[in-house]
Amino acid sequence: MADVLVGIYGASGFGREVLPLVREQLKGTSAEFVFVDDGDVPSSLNGYPIIRYDDFLDRDAQEKRVVFAIANSAIREKLAEKCALDNIPSLSVKADNAVILEEVSMGEGSILCHFTQLTSNIRIGKYFHANIYSYVAHDCVIGDYVTFAPAVRCNGNIVIEDHAYIGTGAVLKQGTPEKPLVIGKGAVVGMGAVVTKDVPTGVTVVGNPARVLEPRKT
Ligand code: UDP
Repeated sequence: MADVLVGIYGASGFGREVLPLVREQLKGTSAEFVFVDDGDVPSSLNGYPIIRYDDFLDRDAQEKRVVFAIANSAIREKLAEKCALDNIPSLSVKADNAVILEEVSMGEGSILCHFTQLTSNIRIGKYFHANIYSYVAHDCVIGDYVTFAPAVRCNGNIVIEDHAYIGTGAVLKQGTPEKPLVIGKGAVVGMGAVVTKDVPTGVTVVGNPARVLEPRKT
């Protein structure tokens, strides 16, 4: 029986990037690793078994932990609620060279990939993902289930509400203490966008300077 069994939920692209981070983080312990996936997936991936959630529940282990390695925040929330009902705690993951400076608070279940940085005086909610080369600068407030693709540049005094998704290489302009730049709940910032003003709830913005992408007329 494993002392600690860690389930990497999501046997896809991001899962394959996250499992090595978890393995490195738990180096020297007797933890065992499996992928957990509900989809139509093979039985193993990169040398690790892929098991279904029910099998994960049935496995014998003194302690179980789960990491939600799925970029889609709505799925992350659904799976986190399911695991909470089954009393399986999440594991926060931090790459060995991820940098956290001072006065940073973060909720459960975060993933900080290689070359990420959280500087000083930052508040972040639960299940935050910072993909490679992303940073969050001073005095930012970030909600729950926020996702940063690679190389997101989130400058100082920015508020990002729950479930926002920030695409690869996006640049968010620094706000001020009196008037932080706000990215609304569930908003999507397209890859490479340069965001210079507030983004309303639920919209997608693209381009430089970023503008709202209107839904296509049919
Ligand atoms: N998935 C799952 N349960 C769900 C929803 C998704 O196990 O309720 C799995 C899905 O089968 C897939 C993975 O999560 O293997 C998500 O992979 P995707 O390539 O969509 O996302 P990424 O790896 O880029 O985050």
